[in-house]
Amino acid sequence: MIVPGSGHPADPVAPGEAPPPSARSAAGVARLAARATLPQLDARVSVCRACPRLVGWREQVARERRASYAGEEYWGRPVPGLGDPAARVLVVGLAPAAHGANRTGRVFTGDRSGDWLFASLHRVGLANQPTSRHADDGLRLIGTRVVAAVRCAPPANQPSTEERDACAPWIEREVRLLLPTLRVVVCLGGFGWDAALRSLADAGVAVPRPRPRFGHGVEVDLDGLTLLGCFHPSQQNTFTGRLTEPMTDAVLGRAAELASL
Ligand code: SF4
Repeated sequence: MIVPGSGHPADPVAPGEAPPPSARSAAGVARLAARATLPQLDARVSVCRACPRLVGWREQVARERRASYAGEEYWGRPVPGLGDPAARVLVVGLAPAAHGANRTGRVFTGDRSGDWLFASLHRVGLANQPTSRHADDGLRLIGTRVVAAVRCAPPANQPSTEERDACAPWIEREVRLLLPTLRVVVCLGGFGWDAALRSLADAGVAVPRPRPRFGHGVEVDLDGLTLLGCFHPSQQNTFTGRLTEPMTDAVLGRAAELASL
């Protein structure tokens, strides 16, 4: 596991910087997220230990490693958001992958879902390069930020409801901080959709009741801010053809268009 402040390129804790406070409970997350600036939020997320099952899992994966990455030191910590702090487009995924972001320390980096997502972001003009392999590979997002609804890799990609709720104040605070510039929220899958709607409602955006339902290509106008649905680029969706590259490009291209990027 990467020690905070040890100089890893994904680490929001700079070498020599005082260690950020670490949440040990859901109440601790809520307290530390409230009033945090974006740099503080990133640093506090990266040392969070509020969910015992997820802390145990992310660190076990980091110790045991996949054979093909045996020579790499895994990140093994929660994964903060990536990209423009004044983003007009926010992309909300589910959670870090065990051998992707939990290894590299950067969201959607080092796995097939990330390859799919960043290739599409690049094709529609929202990323400077089509690949996302490791934390210092030169990737730059254009007017865009990418976050996970739950910040730690969960077993079988399935956080519990309790873990989802414990983590919610991180994304809620992030959405609140981004709101002044935000024009579009792209939700990858129903989990991201629900997290985005909850966070937007928490930030004071008028969300209709009953809440709009997720679907690929669904577009909802929320007082000048647009919510877009996109199937999650998981292998389950991309291998089966449920999500194709043109389908992904259509949604992300629409986001770029709406955000005038
Ligand atoms: Fe903290 Fe969220 Fe990870 Fe739970 S899932 S330990 S709340 S960062």
